[in-house]
Amino acid sequence: MSDTIDAACRGLSEDLLGLVSLPGDGRYAAATSIWAKQVGVTPGAVVHCRTARDVQDAIRAARERELPLSVRGGGHDWAGRALCDGLVIDLSGMRSVVLSPDRSSATIGGGARAADVVAVTDPHGLAVVAGSVSSVGIAGLTLGGGYGPLIGRFGLAIDNMLAAEVVLADGRIVHADSETNPDLFWALCGGGGNFGVVTAMRHRVHELPSVHSGMLVYPFSEAHGVLERCSALMAEAADELTVQHTLMADPSGAMLVLVVPTWSGRPEEGEARLRPFTRLGTLLAGGIERKSYGALLGMFDPYIANGLQTVMDSCWLPSLDRNAIDAFVYAMENTVSPGCAIITHEFRGAASSVTEAATAFGLRRDHLLVEILASFPDQSDAGDMPRHRNWMHATREAFAAALPGGYPNFLGKDELDRARQSYGGNAGRLMEIKHRYDPDNVFSSAIPLPRSA
Ligand SMILES: Cc1cc2nc3c(=O)[nH]c(=O)nc-3n(C[C@H](O)[C@H](O)[C@H](O)COP(=O)(O)OP(=O)(O)OC[C@H]3O[C@@H](n4cnc5c(N)ncnc54)[C@H](O)[C@@H]3O)c2cc1C
Repeated sequence: MSDTIDAACRGLSEDLLGLVSLPGDGRYAAATSIWAKQVGVTPGAVVHCRTARDVQDAIRAARERELPLSVRGGGHDWAGRALCDGLVIDLSGMRSVVLSPDRSSATIGGGARAADVVAVTDPHGLAVVAGSVSSVGIAGLTLGGGYGPLIGRFGLAIDNMLAAEVVLADGRIVHADSETNPDLFWALCGGGGNFGVVTAMRHRVHELPSVHSGMLVYPFSEAHGVLERCSALMAEAADELTVQHTLMADPSGAMLVLVVPTWSGRPEEGEARLRPFTRLGTLLAGGIERKSYGALLGMFDPYIANGLQTVMDSCWLPSLDRNAIDAFVYAMENTVSPGCAIITHEFRGAASSVTEAATAFGLRRDHLLVEILASFPDQSDAGDMPRHRNWMHATREAFAAALPGGYPNFLGKDELDRARQSYGGNAGRLMEIKHRYDPDNVFSSAIPLPRSA
C-alpha cells in the first residue's frame, strides 16, 4: 500500500504536494485524531485541501491508483467514516463563512464547524440552523439531516440548505440547488457524503438575537417523574420550543438526568415558557438564561468526551411515552461503565411539515431520535468492546415501539437494511442518483445507503 500511496502523492499537482502529510507528521496526527478514537485504521496520507481544485486533484490521484478515499470535515462521525486506509481529504482548512450582503444567507466552507459559523453570525444576532454542539462539522451534519435545538421553528439543517458546490467522483466541480442539478441537490439533502465532496454550501440565515435555554440537572432517582412531566409539557408546546434529554453519569459516577429546553421564539416569553421545566423534580443545578445561539451550542462542549473508543446505536421513537421512559431508566440502571449515556433529539414543528418526497431524508413525522452511546478508554481490556456493544444493542431492543430505520448519520457502517428503511419511499430515487453520480462508489466511506442491501 505504501508504494501506491507514494505513487498517488507523486501524481498530485506540485502545488498540492506541499499539502500532503504522512504518518509521523504533526498535521497528519491532528487530522486523524478524530472525536471517536479509531483502532486499526491507518490512512496512508492526508491531503490538506484549501480549494475545490485541490479536492479535485486529490480525488483524481486516489482514483488513478484505486486507493480508498475518505473525507474529513469536523471529524465527529462516531464510526470514523472520516478515515480510511488510503487517502484522506482533509477539509479542515476550508472553514470560511461569509454572509451575503443582505445577510439572508451564508456561504460556508466544506470543513467549517458550527463554531466557525456562529463566530460570524452571532455578532449580528443571526443564526444558521446547526446541531446542538459547536464542534461538529456543518457539512457532515447537514448532509445526513441535521437535528438541532431550532428544529421545531426552522426544520432540519437540510431544510435550510440553499445550494452546494460539489466535486464529483469524475472530478467535475458542479453547483447544485433546486434548479441546477436538482436531483443531486435533493440527494445531498439527507444522503450524506455519498455523491461528492461538498466544498461549500449556502445556508439560509435567520434573525435570532437570542434564545432562552439552560442545562437543568435532576437526580436519576426521579427520572420517571421528570421525563413524564417533560413529555406532558412538550405535548402542548409551541414549535419554538424543543427539549433535549441526557441520561448519564457525572464524574463521580452518580447518574443524572439533564433536561435542556430551548425557546427560540419571542424573547419576552422565554422565561415563562421555560419555567415549568425547572419544576420537573428536585432541581440539583442549573437554571434558564437568555443567551446567544452560539453560547447555546457551546453549552455542551465541556461534556463532549473526546478521543475515546466509542460505539453508538440509535433509534427513532414515535414519542416519549411510558414504555420508552421505562426502557431509558432500565438501561441506565444496567450500564456497564460510566461511559454509557442516552441522549434524545426532537423532531417536530417545521421539520415535520416538510413532505417526505421534498428531500432524501426519509422520516417526516414527529418523533424522538434516541442516541445510545458508550465510550471507554483505549487501554481497557479486550472485553470492553463486546460488553459496551451488548449494552447498547440490548438498550435499542428494549424500545419495542421503535420505528423502522434510524437517523442515517448515526447508523453503523454495515447497517444497509436499516439504511433502506431509513430512506423509506425515497430509497429508490436516492440509489438511482447514486448510480448516476458515483457509479464506482468512490465515496463508499460515507454513511450507508440501501445500495448493497
Ligand atoms: C458530540 C457529537 C454531537 C453531535 N450532535 C449532533 C446533533 O446535535 N445533531 C445531529 O444531527 N447530529 C449530531 N451529531 C452527528 C453528526 O452530525 C455526524 O457525526 C456528522 O457526520 C459529523 O460531521 P463532521 O464533519 O464533524 O464529521 P466527519 O467525521 O469529519 O465526517 C463524517 C462524514 O461526513 C461526510 N462529510 C463531512 N463533510 C463533508 C463534506 N464537506 N462533503 C462531503 N461529505 C462530507 C463524509 O462522508 C465524512 O466521512 C453529533 C456527533 C457528535 C460526535
